[in-house]
Amino acid sequence: MLTDRFGRVHDYLRISLTDVCNLRCTYCMPENPEFSPKEKLMQTAEIISLARLFVLSGVKKIRLTGGEPLVRKDVDSILNGLAALRESGLQELTLTTNGIFLHDHIDALQQTGVRSVNVSLDTLLPERFNAIAKRDHFHRVISNIHLLLENQFNVKVNVVVMKGVNDDEVIDFIQWTRDYPLHVRFIEFMPFSGNKWQDKRLIRSAELLERVNNFLEVETLENKKHDTSRAFKVIGYTGTFAFISTMSEPFCGDCNRLRLTADGKMKNCLFSKGEIDLLGALRAEVELSPLIRQALGQKEEKWGGQPLFGTTENRSMVTIGG
Ligand code: SAM
Ligand code: SF4
Repeated sequence: MLTDRFGRVHDYLRISLTDVCNLRCTYCMPENPEFSPKEKLMQTAEIISLARLFVLSGVKKIRLTGGEPLVRKDVDSILNGLAALRESGLQELTLTTNGIFLHDHIDALQQTGVRSVNVSLDTLLPERFNAIAKRDHFHRVISNIHLLLENQFNVKVNVVVMKGVNDDEVIDFIQWTRDYPLHVRFIEFMPFSGNKWQDKRLIRSAELLERVNNFLEVETLENKKHDTSRAFKVIGYTGTFAFISTMSEPFCGDCNRLRLTADGKMKNCLFSKGEIDLLGALRAEVELSPLIRQALGQKEEKWGGQPLFGTTENRSMVTIGG
């Protein structure tokens, strides 16, 4: 088991497949992004080898992320290789995507037993999508969300809420759950290198919930262990919604997550400054288990040991893998 010095058991690994993306979301991507050369990224077999080691150490859930994981040409092979780790104890394989290329991978997702997909979408207005993501792919994302639903996937829609940018759409997103079994998650805007985070753009979940309560009759749903969100449902609606309040109510006490960046660095927290180069060690044929334990041993109690508000030293979100 991967237990840290605060007794937290880590059984969830998020693997970033690339720092490349086909969108340019302002809150995520720095203005002049520098993408890593291919040879610096983990190759298919390296991803599977590292993932196997984590699964043998107790990881039960793997999420692929990025950058945009579906821009990788070998993503279906990666899914196949990871699905085979079910024999070694992996229980859940899933992914977070901007949805643009989903239609090309539905079969692979089904065949590898992926049941739940998180799709990021910050607005229901096509022109606003172009302003936030700087690329004209709104209709493709919407149609791929419906394609997932038609194919019986559980779909979570991730919305980063920014004051004065898209906070006026929270009710519209919730209305979307009236007839569709979607789970919409409103995420507080977090600071990362190069994303021009400003306190004035942060809107706290409590304020949003108050607004929702003024319009709709809402019931609170029960949270599961390790849930990073608080879930709700409008009475009589098909779907649900939730708030991920990383800034106003951090959920570090129950954290079970580890991360592997696309260039093979292990991060013990989204906000950790330190990283351990597992890919370099794998290529140098160095024993990896002690390095993983060392990285876990350095995990701070909360927020990577950094101040919640203030200068956070970190990579950009797109190079960590959200
Ligand atoms: N490209 C994929 C996508 O957009 O879903 C996967 C990578 S993206 C970095 C993962 C998640 O991080 C997305 O849901 C995105 O909205 C979220 N994210 C990125 N920057 C963020 C920020 N500054 N604050 C909060 N969430 C952020
Ligand atoms: Fe790309 Fe996802 Fe970042 Fe948007 S949030 S720029 S889609 S990695």
